[in-house]
Amino acid sequence: MQYIAPGATLGVMGGGQLGRMFAHAAQQMGYFTAVLDADADSPAGLIAHHHVRSGYLDEAGLAELARHSAAITTEFENVPAQALAALAKTRPVAPGAAAVAVCQDRAAEKAHFVSCGVPCAPHALIETAGHLAGIDVSLLPGILKTARLGYDGKGQVRVRTREELAAAWAELKQAPCVLEKMLPLAYEVSVIVARGHDGQVVHFPLQQNLHRDGILAVTQVPSPDLTPPVQQRAIEAAETIASALKYVGVLCVEFFVLADGSVVANEMAPRPHNSGHYSIDACDVSQFDLQVRAMTGTPLVAPRLHSPAVMLNLLGDLWFRHGDTEVAPPWDRILALPGTHLHLYGKASARPGRKMGHLTITGAMAQQARDTALAACDLLGLERF
Ligand code: ATP
Ligand code: MG
Repeated sequence: MQYIAPGATLGVMGGGQLGRMFAHAAQQMGYFTAVLDADADSPAGLIAHHHVRSGYLDEAGLAELARHSAAITTEFENVPAQALAALAKTRPVAPGAAAVAVCQDRAAEKAHFVSCGVPCAPHALIETAGHLAGIDVSLLPGILKTARLGYDGKGQVRVRTREELAAAWAELKQAPCVLEKMLPLAYEVSVIVARGHDGQVVHFPLQQNLHRDGILAVTQVPSPDLTPPVQQRAIEAAETIASALKYVGVLCVEFFVLADGSVVANEMAPRPHNSGHYSIDACDVSQFDLQVRAMTGTPLVAPRLHSPAVMLNLLGDLWFRHGDTEVAPPWDRILALPGTHLHLYGKASARPGRKMGHLTITGAMAQQARDTALAACDLLGLERF
């Protein structure tokens, strides 16, 4: 692929916060940006040079995005793979439709992990009443997850018995699901890699992630619990997973670490990831910079963490601490703390569970970043970690 120099326009499918931060990175490097999203107020659409307001499968919309763009990427995991395949007929598209399709289906994703020799949780596919009846009870207690379209813990039900499993499958409208055995997690980490058209792969330092109610709450880098063997296994696994997909772009692989140090792949995202947002403020190149580099054929460089960091997700719940009326958190008091970097995504209204922004806290030492993050938690009314 030919190098695409600044001055060109880069297109992105999806107008959420990931698209917005991608556009910021692209614009900083001198690229113009085009966003396809049906929502007039989408976070990325608001700041892009061109906003194509159409659905992901709208032919005219796709043609308009292609007309603007020298190359196209995606920020939304559930962009239909056929839309990416259609765009790829006229423009370089990274990541490609085939790789994204694997990430969109939990069953295909797990099969890919297994084919790469990367362990994942014991699981079974449930697509029919027969599958349900034949479930091996050793998978219980477990988590029933829809095979497609789940995110932020949506489309998941925890089940302890066969009866609960049957009820949960009914609740999920008998959609194709994966039942996963509930594993005793010691901690969770993610590895973000970027892979170029030429096969070069670089990775970020591992992020340690704390989820609450199935949603990422806190990311810490360096990871406080990580051991060198776990780090090595997770990085090797993520690089193998990306290379086997012939992946181009930024890919995040989430891992569970069990008490015995074993590393189990959970899922992957074919795009920059919430757990990598800290890289904007704490690394010399961010995950969004690397997305721009990968899709434009710019050489990749290994990112360097220059400051230990803690990232706190700012969910809409924080706007409703004082009752039903929406009240913004006291940003002035939070920004008075040293090393705080506030990122708000420009969403017009807050809703419980909605990702409104994030706060990254950097420090000279990890302890300092943590202490400041705890002070920020207190001011925000967030549970300490
Ligand atoms: P997202 O896309 O936002 O990362 P998701 O909705 O796809 O989330 P998962 O990553 O599958 O959800 O699960 C969310 C969290 O639930 C995990 O990070 C982990 O904390 C917990 N979890 C999921 N599966 C298991 C499991 N098999 N055993 C133990 N905990 C689990
Ligand atoms: Mg997840």
